[in-house]
Amino acid sequence: MFRISQFMQELESPSPVQPRRNPPGPVVIWNLIRRCNLTCKHCYSISADKDFAGELSTTEVFSVMDDLKQFRVPALILSGGEPLLRPDIFEISARSKELRFFTALSSNGTLIDTSNIEKIAAIGYDYVGISLDGIADTHDKFRRMKGAFVKSLAGIRLCHEANLKVGVRFTMTQDNAHDLPALLKLCEDEGVDRFYFSHLNYAGRGNKNRKTDARYQATRQAMDLLFDTCLDYHQRGLEKEFTTGNTDADGVYMLHWVRRRFPEKAAHIEAKLKQWGGNASGVNVANIDNLGNVHPDTMWWHYNLGNVRDRPFSTIWQDTSDPLMAGLKALPRTVGGRCGSCTHFSICGGNTRVRAQQMTGDAWSEDPGCYLTDEEIAA
Ligand code: SF4
Repeated sequence: MFRISQFMQELESPSPVQPRRNPPGPVVIWNLIRRCNLTCKHCYSISADKDFAGELSTTEVFSVMDDLKQFRVPALILSGGEPLLRPDIFEISARSKELRFFTALSSNGTLIDTSNIEKIAAIGYDYVGISLDGIADTHDKFRRMKGAFVKSLAGIRLCHEANLKVGVRFTMTQDNAHDLPALLKLCEDEGVDRFYFSHLNYAGRGNKNRKTDARYQATRQAMDLLFDTCLDYHQRGLEKEFTTGNTDADGVYMLHWVRRRFPEKAAHIEAKLKQWGGNASGVNVANIDNLGNVHPDTMWWHYNLGNVRDRPFSTIWQDTSDPLMAGLKALPRTVGGRCGSCTHFSICGGNTRVRAQQMTGDAWSEDPGCYLTDEEIAA
């Protein structure tokens, strides 16, 4: 994840540059259930509105949590499918809070209503992330459900009224890029705390949409808009977070933006970007799926590192006899093509390996999703 607002803050209040330090354990994105009431076009888990066999029981989830705790995992992102369809979601969430994990709920928002908002508020989630793919019809088309937008927006409002920190997640493609400005405006009007911009990745249902992915120019325009909006918020003293996901080259793109806009601050931002270090899949980010399989992140569902029913997560995660894990944990990673010769490799880390693997069969070839020009990666 790339935190735009954090770097924007650095423009005004620079903090000391320190060596890159990994947190004690990875943030775990946990797909507790595959069932979903929606069938979104870009879903990486290819969910459906039916029960999937073999999912972890409550007791199994609790015992994995104990292992995650002793492994010093700081945060659990409870996701799905639609996590609110899991009958024990509040039990699991309460246990997560009890164990003092930063606990986030990642939902499509359509099932948050007056019948359950009190329970949601009582858990005291540290963050609730709700996906919106655009305004009204655009969102409904992506979500393949008439009225989904209205329901999700109502869910956002209820969370906001319950004083929960709430964020909107937007996955951009060619078919919804036009809604980005209106969505940013909506988020401001609704007092949304965080805007998470997700680049479309090539995995799950998203993989089948490769041809409709937003082209590089649209991505650049979107990033410019995000930077400008974030700067504007910052200058107005509005505390909102802007983050991006699935493309670590965003850090390099931001460096070029800073060089143009605030050349006197560019050296500091470059140093802070290097401290961040880019892609962290398999290192600081982990994924457990509904069946207990462990993956380097949510986009690697076709690659199993092991199952928590057979070995504790903490053992699986440290096992570098797996070649993918060995490669991801190498510092620096060995990546070929334009990434290998990129001047800014230490900022981006070679970006998203799953995209390289899915496009070329080689996880260590250049990331085909990089939208920077040859000139930008050379200087
Ligand atoms: S060329 Fe590779 S390492 Fe350089 S910015 Fe693009 S994706 Fe990142």
